[in-house]
Amino acid sequence: MSVDSPIPFVDLIAPHQELEDELVAVFRSALHTGGFIGGPMVEKFEGGFAQFCNTRFCVGVSSGTDALRFALMAAGVEPGSIVVTVPNTFVATAEAISQAGARPDFVDVDPATHAMDPDKLQHYFEAECDYDPQIRKPIHKKLLRPVTAVLPVHLYGQMAEMDPILELADRHNVTIIEDACQAHGAEYFSKKQNRWLKAGSVGRAAAFSFYPGKNLGACGEAGAVTTNDVEIANKIRMLRDHGQAKKYYHDVEGYNGRLDAIQAGILAAKLRYLPDWNQKRREAAARYEELLSQIDEITLPFEPAWAKSIFHLYVIAAPERDELLEHLRANSIGHGIHYPMPIHLQKPYQKLGYRDNDFPVAEQACRNLVSLPMHPHLRPEEQTRVAHVIAGFYCARRSADHNTVHS
Ligand SMILES: *Cc1c(COP(=O)(O)O)cnc(C)c1O
Repeated sequence: MSVDSPIPFVDLIAPHQELEDELVAVFRSALHTGGFIGGPMVEKFEGGFAQFCNTRFCVGVSSGTDALRFALMAAGVEPGSIVVTVPNTFVATAEAISQAGARPDFVDVDPATHAMDPDKLQHYFEAECDYDPQIRKPIHKKLLRPVTAVLPVHLYGQMAEMDPILELADRHNVTIIEDACQAHGAEYFSKKQNRWLKAGSVGRAAAFSFYPGKNLGACGEAGAVTTNDVEIANKIRMLRDHGQAKKYYHDVEGYNGRLDAIQAGILAAKLRYLPDWNQKRREAAARYEELLSQIDEITLPFEPAWAKSIFHLYVIAAPERDELLEHLRANSIGHGIHYPMPIHLQKPYQKLGYRDNDFPVAEQACRNLVSLPMHPHLRPEEQTRVAHVIAGFYCARRSADHNTVHS
């Protein structure tokens, strides 16, 4: 490897080349059977993914965004009600809430994990809401709408702190839907249940995305909802298929939100490799930790004792972030920002009336965070070079500072 060969942020080619024969066989079998939508390939994947997540049901849909929207609708989120989520997430989390007819509202995140801060959620219910005994829901004092669900996001591959979130939801009679779109195989140790729980098995329902760049990715668009609730599973089967319970008899207004068979077949083939790929990401994260921990300026990802991250992304907090990005770019090192602007300040949500500094922790994250190359095929020598380039950047800064002080 030459010193300057580019280090990609993700690698969507190597895993598919390795599995090329298996993936082509899926396509061939769809061609030979004419089964393109639904059918045994979809059912097989749904069974396998439910088992992987430790849930009774998995319903395949056309994207993670549809999975979120259908999960909210099937869990009985009322149009006009509030669904509480976090500001630093992919925009689809909020889109799904509005598209289900509800209003997104936000609580700030924990500065160490960047996921929903349970203390902020508690404050939300206790200080910003009144309990309405008639409908048995919290009512937001200013927005004058009931809160029907909380949507924590298992960001970057690590689950949110679910015990206190579940307890608050229980106490205030609201539903929990997990955004597990970045967390296929992540685990959370529940002290209350004294066991590890898989992402997707903790809330009333959970949404997964199989966008190609996710830890489990299709060769196109795909998503799924997992749940232990048979009614929710059945409702989602209807919602994804034009609201029909029986062909051409439509019980509710639904959508075209099905999972196609070729994607399901591809996902079933790739699912067998997911535990190994997730393990490789964890090993790569451990190597980064070793290589980067000497650089005092940066803060590495924090994995609490209760979390097993699958490192969908490896995100560090870095001062002078934008200069660092420039330096990474100059050294051909792939990188990302997840995310550069919090949802409450994005254009489509400006009408909701949020302002700068409403959620300072999330806003700070947008200024500070940078995602380094992370994927199962990342090589140790590539990580060494990433670390070397970052160390070089801060080293140069330190001596520049030093010179200014003494001149
Ligand atoms: C990817 C993602 C989604 C949306 O999934 P799509 O399959 O792209 O629709 C939703 N939420 C989060 C947190 C995501 O990362």
